[in-house]
Order: sequence, then structure tokens, then C-alpha cells
Amino acid sequence: MATKRDYYEVLGVAKNAAGDEIKKAYRKVAIKYHPDKNPDDPTAEDKFKEAAEAYEVLSDEQKRARYDRYGHQASGGGGGAGPNMEDIFSQFGDIFGGGGGGFESFFGGGRGQQGGRRVRKGSNLRIKLKLDLEEVANGVEKKIKVKRYVACNTCSGTGAKNGTDLKTCGTCNGQGQVKRVVNTMLGQMVSASTCPTCEGEGQVVTSKCDVCHGEGRQLHEEVIPINIPAGVAEGMQLSMNGKGNYPERGGVPGDLLIQIEEEPHELLRRDGNNIMFEQYISFVDAALGSNIEVPTIEGKVKIKVEPGTQPGKILRLRGKGIKDINGYGRGDQLIHLSVWTPKNVTNEERELLEKLRDARNFTPNPGKNEKGFFEKVKEYFQ
Ligand SMILES: [Zn+2]
Ligand SMILES: [Zn+2]
Repeated sequence: MATKRDYYEVLGVAKNAAGDEIKKAYRKVAIKYHPDKNPDDPTAEDKFKEAAEAYEVLSDEQKRARYDRYGHQASGGGGGAGPNMEDIFSQFGDIFGGGGGGFESFFGGGRGQQGGRRVRKGSNLRIKLKLDLEEVANGVEKKIKVKRYVACNTCSGTGAKNGTDLKTCGTCNGQGQVKRVVNTMLGQMVSASTCPTCEGEGQVVTSKCDVCHGEGRQLHEEVIPINIPAGVAEGMQLSMNGKGNYPERGGVPGDLLIQIEEEPHELLRRDGNNIMFEQYISFVDAALGSNIEVPTIEGKVKIKVEPGTQPGKILRLRGKGIKDINGYGRGDQLIHLSVWTPKNVTNEERELLEKLRDARNFTPNPGKNEKGFFEKVKEYFQ
């Protein structure tokens, strides 16, 4: 949700770099920031994902052309999520060759595991976030307290005592997979499945960590700053990669999913990026004109009511609405003028009004410029 860096800058290539150069550059960055290689650097994973996202766009001719023209807008969505870890690992098949587990042998040794070890992803964390109209209109940074699982400090998330009481799984010899030769009509085939002993990890804990009792993770309360872009709406979901729960015994954390709830405003109503407000004026003000004050999300604003204003007139305050989530400007505030008819009158008021009843200018006389009810309805449904 933070400002995105230029994709070319992320990979450190020129704007006119050829496909091969981009691939090479990505490979370099991916190796440098691979989470397995940087267990102590929490920013490594973000950089790793950033590079994967950049590669995803720049390696695709169409996506790249769109990005060159429109920048980050092109990929659509506002705070949107980048690719998740599984997507990234599936890219490796293509870039490092060898399909599925290819990248493992490439990065291998990080934790002394090889073969078909799967990358476990922790569960996502979901929260609801209430925003008032002003926060929706301008965007806001919120600090949110969440309880999430993080890797256990004592055992570095392995679940093993001191992080070292592990041994290679005897069932699969550390492969994480067991292969079986099956006789079929077409001859012998090898089928591979996740090792039941180590659940694909390739290692088993010989003595459990005292702190997390072998789980490899701990509940931890954390304050996370979240940048909410302007223009979000009820029901929208933002996601922060890697801010969800850490899985048991190693892997990558899930995401933090933030669901937006809009708190209704006392006076102003939202309609897309516009803000609607209904203002009652007296018929004296409607007839003679007046200056009135109306509320906006930025405080009170004075507006002029022209003499001879008819009920139902809509005044527009340009740019006083909500910022568009994709950066396409800002909505307006629309003020719908209703004329207030007194429900009770005193004798004195009655006398004054009776004098006006038959006055020449008080007899309805709509001209061509007055849009009647039917025109307004027609306009509305167009
Ligand atoms: Zn532990
Ligand atoms: Zn095993």
C-alpha cells in the first residue's frame, strides 16, 4: 500500500532492457533477497516479492507495454495485493528451469533440505476497519493492534530445542517426498507423495523447543501501521502481504486482510465519489436569495442562493467530494435545495401571507427553463 517503486528500478535494468536482461536481473535480485537466505532481515521478503511483481509485469510483453504507458495504474486496483508466495515459486519453474522443485536445488542448503519440500504458508488474518467519511475522502494512516503468530525467537521457528535438535527424516531421507514404484498397464511408474513422517519438511524434531512446545511460533501483539488509500468503500478488502500468521514450524506468513466498513456521516451521504447534502431553505430565502452555510467534509462553506430559486435545484461544490481510488481526480459535493413550507403559522404570519396569496408574482408561472417533475425523472433515468 505504500508508494510503489518503478519496476525497472526494482530490477535495476534500463527501460529498454531486453527480455533476457530482465530475466537475468530478476534472478540476481531473487537470489539476493530469498527469504530462506535472509532469515534475520524482515525487509528481505518484501523486496523479494517486489522483485517478483516487477518480473511478472516486465516479462510479459503486453503487461510491460501497458505498464510503460500507464505506470502502476495499468495493473489495476488500488492498494491491491502483489503476487503471493506460491505464484512467485511457480515463476521459478520458468526462470530457473526444472519445473516445480527446481528452485529448491538452486537455493538448496538454506535449511539443509532438498527435493519436494513444499513451502508452507501461514493462515491469513482478517480484521474489520471502520472509517469515517473524512478518512474515506482523503485516505488515512491507521495504527492497528493485532494478535498474530510470529516465528518463535528461541528456536527460529523450527520448533526444535535451540533451533538445532533436528534430524533428517528417516522415512524420506530428507526428500520430503516418498516415491513408490507402481506397476500399471503402461509399465512401471513412479508416484511421489508427501512424506507422512515429516509432512514434507524433510526433517523431524528430536527434542522440542521449551518456549513454543514445538510449534515454532508464538502469539504476539503488534501495532501495524496501515496506509488506507483515499476512495475506499464499504466491503472493499485490502491486503498486506506477510502480515498474517506464521505457520507451524517454518514457512512464510499469511497475509493480513483488511475489510473496510464505512461509518455513516451525520449529515452527509456518499454517492460514489460525490457527497450529497440536502439543505432546506425558507421560501423567503428562495424568493429573495440568501447566503447560507453548508457542512462539507472540510468544514463549513458559504454558498449563495440566487433570488428566484426553485425547490429541487442542485448546487455543485466542485472538488469537495471523495478522492478517486485510482487517482482519477476528486468528486463533488452536490447540494439539493428543498424549500421549507411552514406547517403552522401565527395569526400575524397568516395575515402577511394572505396579502401575498393573490399577488401577481406569487402565482405559479413556470417558464421554459423550469424543469418540471417529469423532465427531472427522465434525466435521472437516462
Ligand atoms: Zn520455539
Ligand atoms: Zn520425511
